Amino acid sequence: MTDIMDGIDILISEVGPRDGLQSVDSIMPTDAKKAWIKAEADAGVREIEVGSFVPPKLLPQLADTGEIVEYARTIPGLQVAALVPNFKGAENAIKAGAHKITLPLSVSETHSQANLRKTHAQVLEEVEKIVALIKTIPEGDKPHFEGGLSTAFGCTLEGHVSQSKVIEMAEKLVALGCDEVGLADTTGYANPVQVKELVIGIWAAVGRDKLTGIHLHNTRGQGLANVMAALDVGLDTLDSSLGGIGGCPFAPGASGNIITEDLVFLLDSMGLKTGIDLEKLLAVRSTLAEAIPKEALYGFTPDAGLPKGYVQMVNGGAGWGRGD
Ligand code: ZN
Repeated sequence: MTDIMDGIDILISEVGPRDGLQSVDSIMPTDAKKAWIKAEADAGVREIEVGSFVPPKLLPQLADTGEIVEYARTIPGLQVAALVPNFKGAENAIKAGAHKITLPLSVSETHSQANLRKTHAQVLEEVEKIVALIKTIPEGDKPHFEGGLSTAFGCTLEGHVSQSKVIEMAEKLVALGCDEVGLADTTGYANPVQVKELVIGIWAAVGRDKLTGIHLHNTRGQGLANVMAALDVGLDTLDSSLGGIGGCPFAPGASGNIITEDLVFLLDSMGLKTGIDLEKLLAVRSTLAEAIPKEALYGFTPDAGLPKGYVQMVNGGAGWGRGD
């Protein structure tokens, strides 16, 4: 398989079908999800987190995740990611054929107990079992296993979360055998200085190759500022969601994940290759609007359109106003 970073500078990982849909009330029909995923892949998105292997009782919005993973696997060149809350979920994700699985660990233990009903020790036990399971899989078929550090920048229950605690949990996840850790601003509390400090701190503890991506929210409007900090420090993978769907369960009315459309415009206009055709991406919004008409779609670029005469990098552009 070719390297997912071939020909691009930044990997955008679309998380809307998982993070977005899990936090809205509407249930998107399975066919609409497939059409959404296919259309984004056609627009050039290389990685999509397509669902979560949680019991359907808890999240009926994602009850079809197994089928969605199997479908997404048929799209050439697409890296199919899924969230797993525990060992059982990982087993199902692997059975369905996910290329990448992420188990979130809330650095705030109060949050972990409220959300997953598990202490840190219990979550780490699941991690250990998943690593052991992956060891039994033949080399070419092993999924990439990420330990997600959620509430890494603050928690709605505990408030402040110390950097040393985040680093300690990153060390534990790597020691247990996670291929990588991910940083998540689950609550939208992060600021750019904190992003840089935490990434540098984690790199110093576990090595630069063990942390490449960040999951940011725009709850307080800091999303793209935090992206700039992540780029400055040298991360190359960014999570976002089309239309910023999902909202924020802790702040009614606030937007949720950073918005894929605005993120692509930011990167493309700065001359950073994402491989994504923004015009095609913008067209995918109609799939969402039709399938879940009650949900708000966010985004400035979709409202304003591209600047006059704008040439995207996928069409040979070199960024906006650069190099001339
Ligand atoms: Zn999120």
